[in-house]
This record gives sequence, C-alpha cells and structure tokens, in this order.
Amino acid sequence: MNAPALAFRSVTAGYRNRSVLDGIDFEIAEGEFVSVIGPNGSGKSTMLRTATGLIRPRQGSVELFGRGVPSLKPRERAALIGVVPQKLESPMAFTVGEIVTFGRSASRSLWGIPDPKDSDAAERAMIFTNVLELKDRLFNELSAGEQQRAALAMALAQEPRIIMLDESIAHLDINHSQEVLRILMNINREEKITVLLVSHDLNLAAQVADRMLLMDGGRLVSNGSPGEVMREEQLSRVYGCELRVRRDPYGGHPVVSGTLDAQMRRPKTRMRLHVISGGGVGIELFRRLRIEGYDVTAGVLNRLDSDAEAARALDIPCALEQPFSPVGPEAYEQARLMVGQADGVVVGPVPFGSGNLVNLELAAMALAAGKPVWMASDIAGRDYTPAREAAGTAEKLRSGGAVEWSGIHELALLLQREAGARDA
Ligand code: ADP
Ligand code: MG
Repeated sequence: MNAPALAFRSVTAGYRNRSVLDGIDFEIAEGEFVSVIGPNGSGKSTMLRTATGLIRPRQGSVELFGRGVPSLKPRERAALIGVVPQKLESPMAFTVGEIVTFGRSASRSLWGIPDPKDSDAAERAMIFTNVLELKDRLFNELSAGEQQRAALAMALAQEPRIIMLDESIAHLDINHSQEVLRILMNINREEKITVLLVSHDLNLAAQVADRMLLMDGGRLVSNGSPGEVMREEQLSRVYGCELRVRRDPYGGHPVVSGTLDAQMRRPKTRMRLHVISGGGVGIELFRRLRIEGYDVTAGVLNRLDSDAEAARALDIPCALEQPFSPVGPEAYEQARLMVGQADGVVVGPVPFGSGNLVNLELAAMALAAGKPVWMASDIAGRDYTPAREAAGTAEKLRSGGAVEWSGIHELALLLQREAGARDA
C-alpha cells in the first residue's frame, strides 16, 4: 500500500490565541479528487494552511506522502504541493510565460537560468491549462478566468504530486469555472495528480469530486461520496437553513438549492396546526407557519403574553385566559375544540409551570386521538412544575410517537414532509 497523499491524524490547530481545527482525522489516497465544503469560518482555509505547513498542528500529525509536513524543507514541500491561491497578485509587469516559469523555482534557484527541463515543464503546464497563446501577454492585463488558468499553470509547472486550491474558482463565471474544473479533472485523471479543492460552491464541488469533506465549526462532520455528504438534513443543519437536494438528471451527482420557492408555494392540502406557545416563542412560529401556508390556531395563552399580541396581529384564532391566572375551564374548552379541529399540534420551546401544564396535556390528547405532535426538544429542561409533571408528560408524548424538533428549520422540514405525504 502506498502512503496516503495527505493524512490528518487527530489534528488540532489554530492561531496564536485561538484553536480552530478540532480533532481532524482523514486520509486522501494518491490520485483522488477531494473537495472540502463548509460554511464561512468553518476552518477550510485553516485546514489547507495546516496541510501545506503554514500552520503547525498543536496536536496530532499531518503527513504528505508518508512524510511529516513540519519536517519537510520548504523546497521539498514545494516539490510536492502546488497551491493555487484565490487570486494571484503579480507585483510587477510579468508575462504569463514568466509567471509560469516561476513555478519551477522549487527545483532551481529563484533567478537561475531555466534549463530545457524547466521550459518543457512550463510549456506542458501552459498547454494543459490552455494559456500557451497568452504566453507573452502581461499577467495583470488578463481577464479573471485567464489569470486563474495562468495561476493553475504556475502551480502545475512545478510538477507537484498534489494540487490544493482555496476558493480559486469562487469569483469566476460559470463558463470559466467549468473550464478550470475541466482542466483540474484532466490533470487528475491523466497526470494522476491528487486534487484537494476547497469550494463554497457545493454543486461544483459535488460535480467533480470523488469524495467530499464537510467542515462545521472546526470539525470534520462528514467524509464520504458526494451522495453521502450532500444529504438534505445534514447540509440544512450545518448551513443553518433549509436546503433541498436533487439528483442532476445528466451527471447523477447531487444538486443543492435553497427552498425560498417552496416556502412561497402553499401546500395543496391545507393543514391546520394548533400551536402551544407563550412568552414570545410563538412570534417566530406563527409567522413561519403562516408563510409556509398552514392554518394556525393557538393557546391557551394569557391575554398579556406577547404571543397573544402576535396572534391578534396575525389574525390567528387563540384561546385566551386572564393575565396572571392559571388556565380555567372556559379557555381550556376553547383550546380543546381547536385541537379537535387541527390536523396536528406543534409544541414550542416554552417553559411549563402548573399554570400552563394543561396545554401539554392537550398535546397528549391530540396524540391519543391519532394526530401528529411536533414538540420542541428538552421539555424536561424547561419544566418548572413542582413534581416535574411536564417532563413526565413529554416522556409519554415521546414514547407515543411525538416527533421532536430543535430549531424552526427542522420543524419546517418535518411539517413539509407531513404535508407532502398528505398531498401524495
Ligand atoms: P473558512 O476558510 O472555512 O471560511 P477559516 O479557516 O478561514 O474558515 O477560519 C476559521 C476560523 O479561524 C474563523 O473563526 C476565523 O475567524 C479564524 N481565523 C482565520 N484566519 C485567522 C488568523 N489569521 N488569525 C486568527 N484567526 C483566524
Ligand atoms: Mg476560507
């Protein structure tokens, strides 16, 4: 077995006074094409800097082709890794040919005379990246796409065994980013050069990679084929918004998109939801459920509760009780009728005391009547009843099939799934 092209073993790394990477573990085999995705600030660039030796790991080890990265001399490192920056800046008026020849500086002194082997490598790199005809043009006068290809040629000219790119295609239009990706795929397949591509364009990353690494908050949260990594729930959780994943009809790779359109489209079947809330947690819930097209009722709420205010403003029918009073029989009866007419009950992340515990019992009643209940997780942590009755009822709900949710995005996804099942 060959040593992996790149291996991170339990790597913790960061900057002077802050830890960023947290126990990163992965291997990339020689010849693989791997893309790294993750939200802004998740540690992608830091990982790349650690891979190239710019940052030393605090714990764990980083190996390139079986050799510890910190022990490599800069020249040895440059002979193994070609780095393509996001934007290459040329401080002086260099031609493309000159810039690409600099790529050879790893194998000779910086201002030494290029020998024939150097010019062969530079020429091959320029042919691969389709910049040979730009050879005598000034780098600074090229378009963004041309500059990116020249930067790639420069990295390639040093004949590295692995190429690493950090958002290098981020600012290119779709035509030029596809062109750079095509070149990378060719380099990967024909020259067997390993590619590590950091990209915040999930779809491009999924289109070209054999394997994907998903970063979140300095951790590697998923490592697998594009299909395994680009899972709807996982991406929605990591990026903190609702995302849809489909299959590309031509390539079969996963394609992700936002759900703004789905939110604006009302479900065919009107679903009526009764919401149990209070103390302000209903404000976001009401608005969101309305936007998603559900009919909403609420209560029991106290008249002065900000949720009662919000319900009134949104014309949401609401069972109301006098301020500072426990739920009485009249309001309870009103809420019971609302639950009876609802298709399901949503329990918000509201604290429960003896005054509003009956609201949770309404949810239990709905579940017993065969209606779905979606309850915010960790009711036990918000149970202020003397005998912890809310926690007990929540446990009953859970074992009876109530579905737990922990953020409004997750709730919306769960509800859409239910509405979809009803439509089908
Ligand atoms: P990404 O490339 O995924 O957007 P980065 O690796 O750039 O993420 O950043 C990860 C975290 O490290 C962020 O919280 C960022 O603020 C921090 N960070 C990045 N560069 C530095 C630096 N030079 N000094 C201190 N902190 C940094
Ligand atoms: Mg970055």
